[in-house]
Amino acid sequence: MTYNEYLQLIAEALEHDRLYYVEAKPVISDYEYDLLLKRIEQVEKAHPEWVFEKSPTQKVSSDGKSGFKEVLHSQPMLSLLNTYSEGELRDFTERMERLLERVKPTFHSELKIDGIAVSLRFEKGHFVQGVTRGDGKKGDDITENIRTIENLPKKLEGEVPEFLEVRGEVFMPRLVFQELNVAKVEAGEDVYANPRNAASGSLKLLDASETKERRLSLFVYDIVEPPSEITLQSEIAPFLHKLGLPSFPKDLVSTGSSVKDILAFAHKIEEKRPDFPFEIDGIVVKLNELKERRHVGFTGKSPKWAVAYKFAPEQAITVIEEITVQVGRTGVLTPVAELKPVLLAGSTISRATLHNEEEIERKDIRIGDTVIIEKGGDVIPKVVSVDFSKRGDKATKWVMPTSCPICEGPVTHQIGEVAHRCNNEDCPARASRRIIYFASKDAMDIDNLGEKVAIKLMEKGFVKRISDIYRLTKEELSTLEGFKEKSVHNLLSAIEASKKPTLARFIFALGIKHVGEGTAELLAERSETIENFTALQEEDLLSIEGIGPKVALAVLEFLADKKNQKEILDLLSLGVTPQKLKQKAVGHAFSGKTFVLTGTLQNYSRSEASLLIKERGGKVASAVSKETDYLLAGEDSGSKYTKAQKLHVPILSEPDFVAML
Ligand code: NAD
Repeated sequence: MTYNEYLQLIAEALEHDRLYYVEAKPVISDYEYDLLLKRIEQVEKAHPEWVFEKSPTQKVSSDGKSGFKEVLHSQPMLSLLNTYSEGELRDFTERMERLLERVKPTFHSELKIDGIAVSLRFEKGHFVQGVTRGDGKKGDDITENIRTIENLPKKLEGEVPEFLEVRGEVFMPRLVFQELNVAKVEAGEDVYANPRNAASGSLKLLDASETKERRLSLFVYDIVEPPSEITLQSEIAPFLHKLGLPSFPKDLVSTGSSVKDILAFAHKIEEKRPDFPFEIDGIVVKLNELKERRHVGFTGKSPKWAVAYKFAPEQAITVIEEITVQVGRTGVLTPVAELKPVLLAGSTISRATLHNEEEIERKDIRIGDTVIIEKGGDVIPKVVSVDFSKRGDKATKWVMPTSCPICEGPVTHQIGEVAHRCNNEDCPARASRRIIYFASKDAMDIDNLGEKVAIKLMEKGFVKRISDIYRLTKEELSTLEGFKEKSVHNLLSAIEASKKPTLARFIFALGIKHVGEGTAELLAERSETIENFTALQEEDLLSIEGIGPKVALAVLEFLADKKNQKEILDLLSLGVTPQKLKQKAVGHAFSGKTFVLTGTLQNYSRSEASLLIKERGGKVASAVSKETDYLLAGEDSGSKYTKAQKLHVPILSEPDFVAML
C-alpha cells in the first residue's frame, strides 16, 4: 500500500460519510462501510506516520444540519469501537481484564438500536432540551422535534433529581418506516434507505409537526453523571424505568463475566432480531463497573471500555434477469429487479425494488448484473450493490419506458422530482392501487379487500372507481373465483361496517398527494364535517398549524378536480357517512378564540397545548394577525411576541394559560 492509495481509501470513506450523514443516501451497506474502515485502521496501524487528521478513524463524523441552534455537549458524545468478529470481542474482554488488575471486570450487554444518538436534559423532572450528537462536541438543538416523540415523558415520575442528562437512541419502528416509504414512492419522492436514515431525516426536519407524523420512538441507555448510588451499568436501566423513561427491559440485557456469556446473549438476540419491531445492528458490550472506566479511557472517537458487536447483515448474491416497472396509486413508476430466485433470511426472493431511475444510475445497475441483495427494514429486499467483477458483455443498461407499461399513456418526469409518472387518471394499474389503498387498515379498514380481491373485482369490471365498492352485489361477488357464500357475506359485511369512518380516516382514504394520516387528522380537526372539508380555501388551509404550501396546493388541486368532487358525492350518496368530530365544550373561555403559540412551554409540548385549546373549542393558527385572540408565549419567544405586542394582542404566560384551562 502506498501513501497515495491510503489517501484514496480515506477519500472514499469520507465520500460515503457525506452520502450517509449529510444526504441520508448511502450507496453501500453498513457492513461494506465497516470493512472499508477496518482496512483503513489496519493501514494506519502499520503506518502510524501516515495517519491523516481527517481520517474517519480519528473522529466522530459530523451529522450536523443547518437551521438549528448549536449546543455544546456537557460531555462528548462519542461513537463506539465495533467488530463483527468473536476473536476481537475476546481481545476486548481480555484487554479489560489486563487493564483492571485489581478487579475482575464484568460485562453488561444490551441491544444496539439502529437509530440516532440524542442527549436529553431534564430540569426538576421537566424535559427542557434535546440535542443531536453532531460532531461529538456540539450538536443541533432539536428540542421541539424530540418533544413530538410519544414515549418521551414530558415530566419524570418518582424521586426526580434536580437535574438529569441522559443519552439515548431515537429510532423509527419498522412498520412506520415501511409506511413512510410507501407514501414517499406514491408522492414521487426519494425513499429512505433504511429506518436509521429515516429517523435521522425525520429528527432534523425544520418543522416539528412534520416530525410528529414520522412517529419516532426512543430508548434511553445512559446517564451523563449518574447519582452516586449507581455504580454499575446494569443499574442504569432500572433507575431510568423508575423515572418513567423508556429503557431496556430485563430480558433484553445481560451481565456476565466471560466472552462465553456475551456470545450466548448475542446469539439469543440475533435469533430474535427479525421479531423486534425496530432495527438493531448488534449488541453493545460495556464494562459494567462505572468507576473502573476511568482506568481504561477513550480514543479521540470512542470509549475504550465498550464495543459494539455487530451482526452481519442478511445478504445474498444473485443475478438480475429483467427490470420491470410497477405503477402506483399516484401514477409513480417504480422499477423492480426480477431476480434469479435466491434464499435470503429464510424466504425465497425473486424481486427487489430499485426505487427509481436515479437510484439505478447511481448504483450503475444493469440487466444481467450479479448483485448483492439485502433485507433491511423494508419488506421488499433491496439491491445493495453490483459485483462489477462479474459484469459480462451482455449486461444491458435499462431505460425508463416513455409510455406506461399498463395503459400505454405517456410517462412524464417533472423537474425536481425523482419519480416518473403515468398521468392517465384512468390507468387500470393506478385505479387498482387506489382501491387497495382506500380499503387498507389505516384508511377505510375494509377487511377481506386486499390486493388479490381488488384485482379480481377490477378484472371482472365490477369496480372501476372506489365508490363502486359500495355498489357491489351478492350476485356479482358470487361469480368471483374462490368466493363461496361465507366469503361473499364476510366481504359485504366488511364493506357495510366501513360506512362510518371518522372524517380523518375518510380524508386519508381519498389518497390525496402528501396527505398522510397526521395531515388528514389536522384537516379533519379544522373542517369538522365533510362539507366544510370540500369547501376549504387556500387561506383556510394555510392557517392550519402544521400545513404548509405544498400540502395546501395538493389538497386544493384534489378538491378542484371534477372527478374527485363526483367521487366524494357518490360515496356519500351510497351511504358513507364520515363522523363529525366530538362535540366541543361550549361556554369555555377558549371557545371560538384563536390562539397562536410561541416559545417553549414547561409543561406541554406544542401539540399538547394545541389539543387542549381545540378540545375547549378554540382554534390554533400559525401566525399572529388582527384576528388572533391570544398569544400563548413560553420561554424564548421570538418575533411573534413582538408582533403581538404591536397589534395589542393579549399575551398569555404559561401560568395564565393553566389558570384559564
Ligand atoms: P455506530 O452506530 O456503529 O455506534 C455508535 C452509536 O451506537 C452511538 O452513537 C449510539 O447512537 C448507538 N447506540 C445504539 N444503542 C446503543 C447502546 N445500547 N449503548 C450505546 N450506544 C448505542 O457508530 P456511528 O459513529 O454512529 O456510525 C458509524 C456507523 O454508521 C458505521 O459503523 C457504519 O455502520 C455506518 N455508516 C455507514 C455508511 C454507509 O455508507 N453505509 C457511511 C458512514 C457510516
